[in-house]
Amino acid sequence: MGLLIVGSIGLDDIETPFDKVTNALGGSTTYISLAASYFSGPVSIVGVVGDDFPDEHLKMLEDHNVGLEGLQIVKGAQTFRYGCKYHYDLNVRDSLFTELNVFEKFNPIIPDKEKKSSFVILGNIAPQLQINVLDQLENPKFVVCDTMNFWIDRSKADLIKVLKRVNVLIINDSEARLLSNEPNLIKAAKMISEMGPKYLIIKKGEHGALLFGENTIFSAPAYPMENIFDPTGAGDAFAGGFTGYLHKNMEFSFENLKRAVVYGSVMASFCVEKFSTKGLENLSFLEIHNRYIEFRELSSFN
Ligand code: AMP
Repeated sequence: MGLLIVGSIGLDDIETPFDKVTNALGGSTTYISLAASYFSGPVSIVGVVGDDFPDEHLKMLEDHNVGLEGLQIVKGAQTFRYGCKYHYDLNVRDSLFTELNVFEKFNPIIPDKEKKSSFVILGNIAPQLQINVLDQLENPKFVVCDTMNFWIDRSKADLIKVLKRVNVLIINDSEARLLSNEPNLIKAAKMISEMGPKYLIIKKGEHGALLFGENTIFSAPAYPMENIFDPTGAGDAFAGGFTGYLHKNMEFSFENLKRAVVYGSVMASFCVEKFSTKGLENLSFLEIHNRYIEFRELSSFN
């Protein structure tokens, strides 16, 4: 069975200390599906855009074998839009605007052939919509979920309902603190694990990621990068690489989850090298694997 991805698809205005882009391709599903497409096929998305969404972006996704049957294009409606500005410390960003537009009335409809999907990524999107999607699936076996402060602030009760139904939650450190009301990440992780997910991944921007399992923690390094142009979508690229790798080899031991975390980190590192989705558009599996080996050497010692 394929890998089903649900989340936002949109147009972003991004400002970093180095450059600025407007109307760039963005959205959680977009980054996740591109990153996952290098591992597993087929990848299908469920989402919504307005008819202002450029065809060239749809073509690019199709060229990466991303199935668009579950994408609704609403006539006369505006696509989701997001704007943010990064500080010199690129781990810190201010969200400037979030225009839900076509997402406000979105009713996700899973195509019949995807209803049997056992592997699902619930990308960053309203938790109510994440629940709606899970309700349509026959027997989802491995559900990976992402969210962000926007939804923790606005829809925490619904998010907590989602968490009871997911296997892995992927969030960043500030979101983990916000969700648990606990400043210490280890304590926060315990509290969040009690909300449902068997595994929790806390991303720490350019400082790597922590994978929490039952009584076990794995600390993955971050790739030391000289050229970070745009951190947008790094978390989504991580989720796509992590889940794509597991979907490809269907092995769920903690050891394999560790490898998946490193593949997730590899995809995040490619993502941030260029603006918008450009860093994920022209990769080869060999490049991805070579960077995985570099990651391994980076933190191996006796
Ligand atoms: P990340 O940098 O991994 O947090 O992902 C950034 C992407 O998420 C951007 O391309 C945005 O279009 C999208 N995004 C930002 N805010 C939201 C939101 N509230 N709901 C859904 N998607 C969002």
